[in-house]
Amino acid sequence: MTAIKPASFSLDCIINSINMGLIVVDSEENILLWNDWVSKYSDIAAEQAIENKISSVFKEVPSPAFLTALRNTLAYGLPALLSNALHRSPLPLYASAEAGQEGMRMHQSIAITALATADGERCCLIQISDSSTSIKREKMLRSHSEILKREATTDSLTGIYNRRFFDEHYKIALGQSKRQKLPLSVLMVDIDFFKEYNDYYGHPAGDKTLIKVAHALKIQLSRSSDVLARYGGEEFILILPNMPEQHAIAFANKLRTAIWEMAIPHLKSKISKQLSISIGISTYDQNKDRDVTTLIQNADNALYQAKQIGRNQVCFMPLSQLVAKQD
Ligand code: GH3
Ligand code: MG
Ligand code: MG
Repeated sequence: MTAIKPASFSLDCIINSINMGLIVVDSEENILLWNDWVSKYSDIAAEQAIENKISSVFKEVPSPAFLTALRNTLAYGLPALLSNALHRSPLPLYASAEAGQEGMRMHQSIAITALATADGERCCLIQISDSSTSIKREKMLRSHSEILKREATTDSLTGIYNRRFFDEHYKIALGQSKRQKLPLSVLMVDIDFFKEYNDYYGHPAGDKTLIKVAHALKIQLSRSSDVLARYGGEEFILILPNMPEQHAIAFANKLRTAIWEMAIPHLKSKISKQLSISIGISTYDQNKDRDVTTLIQNADNALYQAKQIGRNQVCFMPLSQLVAKQD
């Protein structure tokens, strides 16, 4: 029981100052109380509302869900909650005159509670709160968390996926390939003589070239399941589900040619006068391979071979073959 200490303010004053809508109706749905908050947002004064039926007092009819909930509470005394998630705007309340003109109702959360009166008649208290701000806050939080998620999985320089995303995605792609009994190819891409490129053209120019290369590789991907990520400095990695060995080799050559044809000058390259990439490939094929644990390592070993045989090359290493990389 709450005790109210006599003071200079009245209960009426509280009811009309509270930052929520309060309506009380009797068992016949006639309005007994209509606070200032409701007047303000419905544009209906208390004098117009009192003793009128709640179903006909508004300029537009309240939602059927609201009327059903109210009638249930009046009939059975059980409380009802119209949450904003399911019932956006049960009552025609508008945050401003402009919102009213545009028909943009305020988002509301409504609680309906039975009140027992001295004469035993059941009345209902309807409490309305404006949930627009909490919705706005929720939306903002959601979009923030999406930005954070995107930032956490994106390489800040090139805008493609980062190593962290790749590591997570690789596990998923491998699981899918095992379940679907489909091949999975991994390509390791490395820019040739990039240290010399940086030393000669400068680090900022090197960064621009990395962005160009990442973009050129990315636009070659045609399936939504294909993933390209920056694996480290000037190294990229691709996971290509459902791509058998021969297709992977042809695809790698397409990537190599795409970079070559950009004809980015590289006067310090020891194999030509323009920028090139080398690619190592390995493929997991359940018909042939039992153990998949060295798939990435084998692609890396294949890359090493591509460097060894002259760069601007594509090399494939079967998963069954494990050659120690010599650094
Ligand atoms: P190789 O053909 O054998 O791959 O030779 P390389 O010079 O490309 O290989 P190395 O590993 O010796 O050098 C890689 C260089 O890549 C070193 C570094 O200067 C450059 N690099 C790595 N990350 C970045 C980056 O984020 N921006 C720039 N501009 N350069 C980078
Ligand atoms: Mg390199
Ligand atoms: Mg490298």
